[in-house]
Amino acid sequence: MLGTTGEPDADVDALRTARVHRIGSDLARATAAPERIDLGLSSRDTLGAWSWPDGRIRVSRTLVDLLDDDALAAALAHEIGHLLDGGHVADGSSALAGASSGARHDGPGLELRADAVACSLLRARGTPVEALPRMLRTVARDLTPASDGPDPAALRQRAAVAERSCVAAR
Ligand SMILES: [Zn+2]
Repeated sequence: MLGTTGEPDADVDALRTARVHRIGSDLARATAAPERIDLGLSSRDTLGAWSWPDGRIRVSRTLVDLLDDDALAAALAHEIGHLLDGGHVADGSSALAGASSGARHDGPGLELRADAVACSLLRARGTPVEALPRMLRTVARDLTPASDGPDPAALRQRAAVAERSCVAAR
């Protein structure tokens, strides 16, 4: 139906999906099992990205629209980082920002490890690694407060760590 409020526009979604696939496939090729990574849009409205142990990575439309290609690469690289991080195959999904609507099983250590993998994947793709802290700060800035949502302060802390351990470590 046309004109229904909140109805996703199929053409815009096709463009969003194409961006996610193009950028995510580049990153996935730097992993040992690119065929296991299944990229797509999330039905959630929340600003975020999520990954599951079965290889699914989903990003929200709001995140895709907010980020430029390099920052979107950083967000996808972080989620791939979770998949590559053996300690993160817990039940449920893991969120970009370290807090999902489910249990808080993804502590700061897991997030920092996923960021470290993301740093390597970005370098492998030839993406400027400054995109990682920039993405984290962009998401922190645009978050709307939600009790079960990600913590902007935690994102800014991760951005500071990424500046030291990724951007400065050339
Ligand atoms: Zn994460």
